[in-house]
Amino acid sequence: MVCINNNIIKKVYKKIKEYNVIVIARHVGPDPDAIASETALRDSIRLTFPDKECYAVGLGVSKFKYYGILDKIDNEKYQDVLLIALDCPNLHRLDGIENLKYKEILKIDHHPAEDIKGPVDWTDDSSCSTCQLIAELILNSPLKLDTKIAGNLYLGIVSDSDRFLLSYTTTKTFKIVEELIKKSKLDFTSIYSYLYDRSIDEVRFQGYLALNMQVTENGLGYLVIPAEIVKKYNVDLATPSNLINSFNYIREVIVWTFITKDAKNKSYKVSIRSHGPIINTTASKYNGGGHKYASGARLNNEEEINNFIKDLDLVCEEYKRATISNLD
Ligand code: AMP
Repeated sequence: MVCINNNIIKKVYKKIKEYNVIVIARHVGPDPDAIASETALRDSIRLTFPDKECYAVGLGVSKFKYYGILDKIDNEKYQDVLLIALDCPNLHRLDGIENLKYKEILKIDHHPAEDIKGPVDWTDDSSCSTCQLIAELILNSPLKLDTKIAGNLYLGIVSDSDRFLLSYTTTKTFKIVEELIKKSKLDFTSIYSYLYDRSIDEVRFQGYLALNMQVTENGLGYLVIPAEIVKKYNVDLATPSNLINSFNYIREVIVWTFITKDAKNKSYKVSIRSHGPIINTTASKYNGGGHKYASGARLNNEEEINNFIKDLDLVCEEYKRATISNLD
């Protein structure tokens, strides 16, 4: 039996009903789950309540325009707004809410809880994605669904679960996806290109990552990517994060990380993945956080890079030791 979160769904729906102006935000540097969850929820609220003003904010990303155009609003113009925070547990990482006078925050997220706390807080880190939670909400409340909303939610779920591969994919994920497809009559195989279409430059860049990744004896795969390489391959700062899941299931690697020079911000953007050791505790020591097995961080200089790599290598070493002693 799949358990639906009816109590919290009722509270979320009631809060949405209560407000005339709703602003939906998600984390900076969005991925498909972040963008698709905000546009899907916005479009469903607009469809259900045509008289409400509902906006999805944050910097637009051209390669994600399929999910819908984000709204540019004058944040200072509105009073008594309901702010809905999606896919982000930290207030400082919410994109596009500067000077917004919100009255309450409603949070829906699948990351472990951090500082955002509102009167209604739906945090479920057993969910594979925020889109799974939004789908659960829409399918079990009077909020309306159409094919476009369903398509966005489907792609967000597929993307964040890495095509149902990651361990937080559950029977509930499949149940929700089944209902989503049935109810909306979504032709889901026809929309994969919006998620997976890529340039030959990006494929060649993936080859560069594979050829240059260093692997330690303890099973840490790592690569520091200079800004010139990002430029040479005609990709962007987000590309290593988009490609990092492709390095799963390498026998010699249990944790892997890409550290990319962000010339504009004079720092390094870090993506980390694991198929064993918990990595978000290490990420949080380096201006980061995220999920147990999928995290990100920011590093400021080479000394921090070296310390970060040493720390992650130690995490791998301890994990290997614990795994071997469990077998004894
Ligand atoms: P990424 O590798 O960019 O796909 O990020 C993996 C996960 O870590 C996502 O859930 C992000 O929201 C989270 N994350 C990435 N960077 C940071 C950061 N600097 N601080 C907190 N969480 C982060």
